[in-house]
Amino acid sequence: MQVDFIIVGQGLCGTFLSHQLLQAGKRVYVIDTNKPFSASKVASGVINPVTGRRIVRTWLIETLMPFAVEAYTQLGNLLQANFIKPAPIIDFHTTAQMHLAFADRLPHETTYLHQLPNEQPWKDVCNYHFGAGMITPSWLVDLQLLLPLWRQHLQLLSCIDDMHFDQTLLRVSDFRVQYKNVTAKAIIFCDGVQGSSNPFFQQLPFALNKGEALIIHAPKLPATHILKHGLSIVPWIGENMFWVGSTYEWTYADALPTAAFKQKTETALRQFLQHPFTIVEHLAAERPATIERRPFVGLHPLYQNVAILNGMGTKGCTLAPYFAHQLAQHLVHHAPIDPHANVQRFSKILSK
Ligand SMILES: Cc1cc2nc3c(=O)[nH]c(=O)nc-3n(C[C@H](O)[C@H](O)[C@H](O)COP(=O)(O)OP(=O)(O)OC[C@H]3O[C@@H](n4cnc5c(N)ncnc54)[C@H](O)[C@@H]3O)c2cc1C
Repeated sequence: MQVDFIIVGQGLCGTFLSHQLLQAGKRVYVIDTNKPFSASKVASGVINPVTGRRIVRTWLIETLMPFAVEAYTQLGNLLQANFIKPAPIIDFHTTAQMHLAFADRLPHETTYLHQLPNEQPWKDVCNYHFGAGMITPSWLVDLQLLLPLWRQHLQLLSCIDDMHFDQTLLRVSDFRVQYKNVTAKAIIFCDGVQGSSNPFFQQLPFALNKGEALIIHAPKLPATHILKHGLSIVPWIGENMFWVGSTYEWTYADALPTAAFKQKTETALRQFLQHPFTIVEHLAAERPATIERRPFVGLHPLYQNVAILNGMGTKGCTLAPYFAHQLAQHLVHHAPIDPHANVQRFSKILSK
């Protein structure tokens, strides 16, 4: 079989890259193991424009957010589904300092930070002692729907295989790559955390971290907003279902759910929520984060037909559509890649 591009991985990165390349009229062949606990499958799907204790704008958000909203909407139109909806974040401050930090930023960040218009209904739902503010526009992406629907679409086009990609079977020559019986002009690795042990790209400064989440059933909790009180409570697929998380663990024995997280989160939730809930599921995954908090996008400096789209860290929903588009444009039309994301910035390390 002959295609234009082989793509390894169908998380957020592989999904948007295969979509972009198909849109450009290219033939793609995607290989993905369809593991249940990849980052994209465990993620809550939030696009939050601000970050950190100082509540500053996230990198490039003025460009990335409208691009992402358009990209999810377009993909939804193609697959006749709705993958994205507005979801204001209510930031219930957990300390007096956080309340002050929010109040200080409010006059300076009038696009994304707002007073909570009507606090009263929330007083009957949650226990909080230091006030609350609102972050909006912010968005919620339905990854639980998007990933399988895109996979189904690729299956209908006969361009995805559900299998493990074995690096030892890849042959890379100057003008083409070959994997088993498939030849292509180039291969692109969208392999998430596995990228940190990929022989072509393992020297890159990955900084994997682990996150856990509980899925709860909470019949009296409104599903109109994302609630933050240390933890985030995010509407999830299914009626009255919510995703609750997460942690950022830098040292861990494995990527499995832990009893400690479950216990700590359940206790915090019982204190915060006034209404009953039951725990339905417990998820965990590693995030493909990077030391500089910028993605890895582009061609390997030594192998001009081996590329990467990875390093989305905590922001895959915001970053993946935009950088998949940049990489596709680069592969097809040699368009430039943002130098802060272009993997060429590591050409010395990758050329060793
Ligand atoms: C708990 C948690 C919560 C998160 N919440 C959010 C959020 O609210 N908003 C947000 O923007 N981001 C969030 N993220 C981050 C987001 O999930 C990631 O940035 C994003 O999903 C990364 O996508 P990816 O395609 O690079 O990797 P992945 O989703 O890991 O996809 C990689 C795919 O490649 C496949 N693969 C790898 N190696 C091989 C191989 N050799 N052969 C075949 N297949 C292979 C894997 O099976 C997988 O399907 C969260 C992450 C976690 C863990």
